[in-house]
Amino acid sequence: MLPSVNASHRKVLSPINTPSRLLLGPGPSNAHPTVLEALSRTPIGHLDPLYVQLMGEVQELLRYAWQTDNRLTIPMSGTGSAAMEATLANTIEPGDTVLVAIKGYFGLRLADMASRYRAKVVTIEKPWGEAFSLAELEHALATHKPAILAMVHAETSSGVCQPMEGIGDLCRAHDCLLLLDTVTSLGGVPLFLDEWKVDLAYSCSQKGLSCPPGLGPFTMGPRAEAKMTARSSKVPNWYLDVTLLNQYWGSDRVYHHTAPVNMNFGMREALRLLAEEGLEAAWARHRSNAERLWAGLERLGLQLHVPEALRLPTLTTVRIPEGVDGKAFSLHLLNKHGIEMGGGLGELAGKVWRIGLMGYNSQPANVDRLLNLLETELPAFAPAGLSAVVAA
Ligand SMILES: *Cc1c(COP(=O)(O)O)cnc(C)c1O
Repeated sequence: MLPSVNASHRKVLSPINTPSRLLLGPGPSNAHPTVLEALSRTPIGHLDPLYVQLMGEVQELLRYAWQTDNRLTIPMSGTGSAAMEATLANTIEPGDTVLVAIKGYFGLRLADMASRYRAKVVTIEKPWGEAFSLAELEHALATHKPAILAMVHAETSSGVCQPMEGIGDLCRAHDCLLLLDTVTSLGGVPLFLDEWKVDLAYSCSQKGLSCPPGLGPFTMGPRAEAKMTARSSKVPNWYLDVTLLNQYWGSDRVYHHTAPVNMNFGMREALRLLAEEGLEAAWARHRSNAERLWAGLERLGLQLHVPEALRLPTLTTVRIPEGVDGKAFSLHLLNKHGIEMGGGLGELAGKVWRIGLMGYNSQPANVDRLLNLLETELPAFAPAGLSAVVAA
């Protein structure tokens, strides 16, 4: 006889029970209710003609969200990091110089990943909270002559949005591909991939798209496709090999791996909602709710970490007041009020909270709920004499 589940493990036999949370951290953010409905539909076969039609719709909607005509635009089966890895795995050949412009945690991840594909990685760095100027990028391109410049548009670790004007032209002039992380910008921040001459980009489902984590939108333009096609070695990653994946996503419909069909149901609905609202309206909504948050935080006497011109509407970094235990306060918000806020990473660990207003969560009522709690609950976490920090 098989041993039975032991008494102390009995609770694993009770049905799943998840708390209700308002996710105002760096991701995931809450999913839209109709996306959750789409996810719970009965799966259909991943080669079913009706599913194949849905795949085409997801691609078309993704091209709209990114403002690109790229043929190779597909959701990778995996999170944003899988799509990130796909951009590098498909284009890097051993010995290629990859220039990574690092201004936060995700730039460091790009450099780590590129080195695993045996690129010669060179980096330029800025403090977490600043962005690169065109002159700094031009100098680095001229010095290092890279095959690829990789950078993050919306740096979720610092709350900085990198201005993109002119970077694509510089890359073309230096015969270099431009690879852009748009994980925290897609759906929430103006993004014009083709106009900006971006050759490779990726994102995720769980930040600006109002969908749970599980898919990583990926796109590759003609110049990147040409570099991939000219490879002398196989793509050193079977699962993320776009030439193989395109036999499934392209017209041949050859089995590669079983598509997570329900995740793609959810993605289709999330992208449909974005298209129905309209990109410009969605960008304006993110902007106005972020401005409401920024004004409210400053009214409470809190300091924003990033200068307004570089501030990201989807993710705000606010300095933890001197003497306040930032972690203890976040835990209090989570346990007592069901609200998640993020802490700092790397250079900003212990120094900032990270507040996300992404996709479905970018709503005035969410901003007001958080501001009210900061006003009423934060003083108890500030040392005596510092309660003026949150002067109402
Ligand atoms: C979240 C994030 C990623 C990684 O995405 P996952 O879905 O967590 O794998 C990459 N880059 C940036 C800028 C992010 O914010």
